[in-house]
Amino acid sequence: MNWLGDHSSDWLPGINSGLTSRAVLTTSERTVAVGKDGAPLLLAIDDPLILDYEPHLAGTLNGVTYYGVRCPEIAGLNYEALRPVLVQLDSDGFIPVSAAMQVLDFIEEHRFCGRCGKETSASVSDRGRHCEPCGLTQYPRISPCVIVLITRGDEILLARAPRFVDGMYSTLAGFVEAGESAEHACHREIREEVGVRIKSPVYQGSQSWPFKHSLMLGYWAEWDSGEIEIDGEEIVDAQWFHIKKLPKLPPHASISRGMIDAYVKYRLN
Ligand SMILES: [Zn+2]
Repeated sequence: MNWLGDHSSDWLPGINSGLTSRAVLTTSERTVAVGKDGAPLLLAIDDPLILDYEPHLAGTLNGVTYYGVRCPEIAGLNYEALRPVLVQLDSDGFIPVSAAMQVLDFIEEHRFCGRCGKETSASVSDRGRHCEPCGLTQYPRISPCVIVLITRGDEILLARAPRFVDGMYSTLAGFVEAGESAEHACHREIREEVGVRIKSPVYQGSQSWPFKHSLMLGYWAEWDSGEIEIDGEEIVDAQWFHIKKLPKLPPHASISRGMIDAYVKYRLN
């Protein structure tokens, strides 16, 4: 299998080159203003509703420049949590909203310097936040996270975390620790979470995932040895599922689902 996802969108982060501009409205609680159809509301940048708030550039896609605006909920608008809003979108809808949310989170969480505590300001030359007194510049945080599809012939190892919606199982994921390679993290996470050993993980593609600022690095690994053993806390159940008898899976917008679907197709061909 060699699944690399769909990266055809011509997304230009931090670039304002669109003929029109749209603003995504978010709150500090990470909710998003939505229209009647449940899709993110994309207001004109000069809409009177948001004139009091500063728009922050996210990037340009297909001739439209997207900004993020963060402000308290505006009366008369509907708001939804980020996750259900995002996972129903295709990648052209997903990317600008995900990017805007991450840019706004970064600005809100880096108003003060982590080294000297003074106020920061937007860097003039890039997307960082600069501290004039001590010279430190900080950049939007991106946390690499491995996500691993483990297979054994026609079976896939899927697990449930306590936060998952009822009945849903997914591939295993974990953050890369300082000093670790992504491949080290794959081996370690799998041993820790389900107690099995895997053969060499093979890279399958990546996805920016704004929960909260993750870069998901997708790997496929064949089972090597060991039986499933879970800790009951981080993982509450893990099982081998036959590709023709899979449980409820993550939404189509996720890299996890992309890899599972690609493997099923590969085995059935
Ligand atoms: Zn400083």
